[in-house]
This record gives sequence, C-alpha cells and structure tokens, in this order.
Amino acid sequence: MTSPAGAGRFAPSPSADLHIGNLRTALLAWLFARSTGRRFLMRVEDLDDRTDTDIADRQLADLAALGITWDGPAERQSAHRDRYDAVVDELAARGLLFECYCSRKDIAAAPRAPHAPEGAYPGTCRDLTEAQRAQRRQQTGRPPALRLRSDVTSYTVHDVVHGDYTGVVDDFVVRRGDGVPAYNLAVVVDDAASGIDQVVRGDDLLASSPRQAYLAHLLGHPPPVYAHVPLVLNADGARLAKRDGAVTLAEIGVGRALTQIAESLGYTAPTPEGMLAEFDPGRLPRAPWVYRPG
Ligand code: GLU
Ligand code: ZN
Repeated sequence: MTSPAGAGRFAPSPSADLHIGNLRTALLAWLFARSTGRRFLMRVEDLDDRTDTDIADRQLADLAALGITWDGPAERQSAHRDRYDAVVDELAARGLLFECYCSRKDIAAAPRAPHAPEGAYPGTCRDLTEAQRAQRRQQTGRPPALRLRSDVTSYTVHDVVHGDYTGVVDDFVVRRGDGVPAYNLAVVVDDAASGIDQVVRGDDLLASSPRQAYLAHLLGHPPPVYAHVPLVLNADGARLAKRDGAVTLAEIGVGRALTQIAESLGYTAPTPEGMLAEFDPGRLPRAPWVYRPG
C-alpha cells in the first residue's frame, strides 16, 4: 500500500481553536498518510475573512504539540490567490461558468424540479440571455457569484470508510460575489497543486466530495482516495463545538488528549508513533465518538 509520490494532508480553517474532535481527525489523517508511505502536508484555509492569523498559529502549535509532523512549511491559501483566479479564468474560457445573481433567499424560494435534490442550485441563472444578465446586474447592484455549469447531477467517489459514495453535483459556486474563491474550488486546486492523492477529513464533508471530484475531473486531475471519518459528538449527541467547554488542547492537556484519542480509536499506545504501529484502517470505529470531558 505504499505510494511514495503521493501525499495526505490536514487543512484546518483558522476560524476557531481546534477541539479534540478536530485534533483526532488530524491525527487520523496523519496515520493514514504515514502508514501508506505518503508525505503529509499542512494547509491553512484562510481565504475567508472570518479567519485569523493568531488562531492559525495556535492550531499549528497544537498539532505540533500532539506530535503530528508535516513535510515542508504549512501552506496558506491566502498566499496564492492568483492560483485560484487562473483556474477560474480557465473554466470561464472553456464556457463552463455562468454568473449567478441569486441571494440565498432567492435560491430557497425558487421553484424546484420534482426530483431535484434538496439544497441543489435550482438553475435560475444558468441560461439567461445577455440582455437578461445585464438587467439582473443592474437590479441587484452587487457583483455576481460564478457557478460551474455542471453537465452531471451526481458523481461517485471512492471512500475507504464509506465505500463507493454517490452524491449530488449541482451548479455549485466557484467564486463568491465578493471575489473570494469558493471552498470547493480552492480545495481541488490546492490538492492537485500539492500532489495530494489521499483526503482524510470529517464526514460532514462527505457530501461535498462528489462536487470536488467532478471538478477535479474537469480539470484533468485524478480523484484522490477519500476517507471521511466519524465526527465527535458532545454528550447531547450534537456535533462537538468549542462552546461545549474543556475541548481544546489548552484545556485538556497534551498527555490526556492523546490518551483519550488513542482510547477512542481502540489503541493502547498514547503516542502518534505508537498509534501508527497499531493503525489498521479496516478497524476504524464507524460510529461517532461521544466525548465526555474528564
Ligand atoms: N478547511 C475545511 C474545514 O476545516 C476542511 C477542508 C478539507 O479537508 O477539505 O472544515
Ligand atoms: Zn442564480
């Protein structure tokens, strides 16, 4: 199972300190990469203005404190905006993008075809004439988002945990109205640019993977192997969040966090290297980990 040329990665958004669930996902990504001879890369997803450099620094420090190692310096998405713009230009030149003037409210209120999946873009702006576009531009008075003109409605990815997974591909946003590259575009562009062929992350992102793999396909990149790992829940069964309290590394402590993570995965060794020796992707717990501080 070694693939010396490939790489895995962890790609945190620095909008809040990492909690024990994020740390566990990071450690799993590291275990998947290292156990298959891959490089492991770190990417700070800081395109959004809700992100913060101090938080990014703390996230990297926490990951290092846990004993997670990565190859080369952590990459910051904000450092290469031109990379996303170049791909947007390429897609536009190929006639694969259209301007969307819809607000969230417009999309929620738009009539939907009988079998259109929940949450999929209803196609409102896909086939407007140039005159209609000029009119919409004037009416809305804000710059349009750019959406991908998808010619499929679903796509299948391979996931180590979930098997073959088929999910919705709609005309998703590749550049927001404010000019910021959309998450789905940036992830695909960066993973390809870094030679990442293994994507391990929380299973809240499983439903996004068909869109991303489809875009990778359009850009001529092979799809990565995915592993969407179970999220961590609080005692009430809701997704663990910082406000649950006592969930960050500063609050828990490195030794205790490693012990808790190892225990949740069924490993005896409370160190990354020890867990690596015990790692078996086939034995990953399928159920969410319910975290109880203490
Ligand atoms: N930055 C995303 C997040 O923190 C993860 C992106 C990814 O792993 O593809 O939710
Ligand atoms: Zn629209």
